[in-house]
Amino acid sequence: MRVGLRAFSLFLALVFALAFACCAPVKNSHSTFLAMDTVMDLTVYGDAGVLESAEELIRSLEGELSVTDENSAVARLNATGRAELSPETAALIRTALALGEKTGGALDITLYPVVRAWGFTTGEYRVPSDSELASLLELTGISRVETGGCTVTLPDGMMLDLGAVAKGYAADRLSALLCERGVKSAVFNLGGNVLAYGHKPNGEDWRIGINDPLGEGNACIIRCHDRAIVTSGGYQRFFEQDGTRYCHIIDPSTGYPVNNGLASVTVISENGTEADALSTALYVMGYERAVEFWRENGGFEAVFITIDGALTVTEGLESACSPAGNYSEFSVAKR
Ligand code: FAD
Ligand code: MG
Repeated sequence: MRVGLRAFSLFLALVFALAFACCAPVKNSHSTFLAMDTVMDLTVYGDAGVLESAEELIRSLEGELSVTDENSAVARLNATGRAELSPETAALIRTALALGEKTGGALDITLYPVVRAWGFTTGEYRVPSDSELASLLELTGISRVETGGCTVTLPDGMMLDLGAVAKGYAADRLSALLCERGVKSAVFNLGGNVLAYGHKPNGEDWRIGINDPLGEGNACIIRCHDRAIVTSGGYQRFFEQDGTRYCHIIDPSTGYPVNNGLASVTVISENGTEADALSTALYVMGYERAVEFWRENGGFEAVFITIDGALTVTEGLESACSPAGNYSEFSVAKR
């Protein structure tokens, strides 16, 4: 009888332990650090050790791709005009060139001579003269970049800058790392490039806040899973001179910072590199051309906020978007 009672108590303890294990929230681990000149904020549910590997991966990508680090592969290419790159970096350059073609040149990774003249990435901000910009634009053009195997060759004076795609590419590489390690839920914010990996541990969609580019807090919340959510805008990196604001995203057709009525563009896609490339390109295009591009190409969804405070989402986000903060409604761009 006593043995029976003990066995029963043990059974009850086991039932309680199992019930608790099933209902206990999956533990999350968090890491915040500076890399790629921005704040990286990583949260993972389950395998905490993956955070260290994720940070290592981000730092190694920065060491490979940073245009300002003279030891990086990209800086070496820019200094010598020709370099043998890793297969991954050569592939990223080819992808960025192809996305440049696809966006009619709105994404232009050869703009670096112009970006640098405005002082973006060096911090020495200035307004270059029209004649200086005209001669620097002569040093740009995606069709002039030669790629053969892993070798990339640039004409004299030309330079590449992967700043518009590298964080999105990092999100793709991190996504592969999480998959390899069997992680089911993670959310990484790489300075405006968000990776919403898997679902929340309770099976629900992630709720990703889209910053209000005109004020504080969020303009809307997007519910999604397994997506990169990437925002480009003129509201964080800019300088002001004589009452004019100059942002860090440059229109390749003029050499001037974008000023077309858009405050921000967010692109939501399964592919981080594409989301990053397209958020920059759509911001350059302006609202009308950007919506046209979405209609013609598809494969992604977008959120547009104009400087007069209008919030528009593409059709696929209609039921996934909730306005927030100063925004009580949104319009839907239809196919
Ligand atoms: P995005 O819209 O994704 O990209 C805009 C950036 O792309 C611009 O800042 C410019 O560099 C470039 N660009 C502008 N117009 C175009 C265009 N039409 N087509 C293509 N590219 C364009 N910043 C520093 O100030 N110092 C650093 O040392 C530094 N190191 C970095 C290292 C890495 C690996 C990366 C990825 C970024 C680094 N940055 C640094 C930040 C970088 O210069 C950009 O500011 C940042 O990548 C912009 O990201 P975004 O998502 O805000 O904008
Ligand atoms: Mg970008």
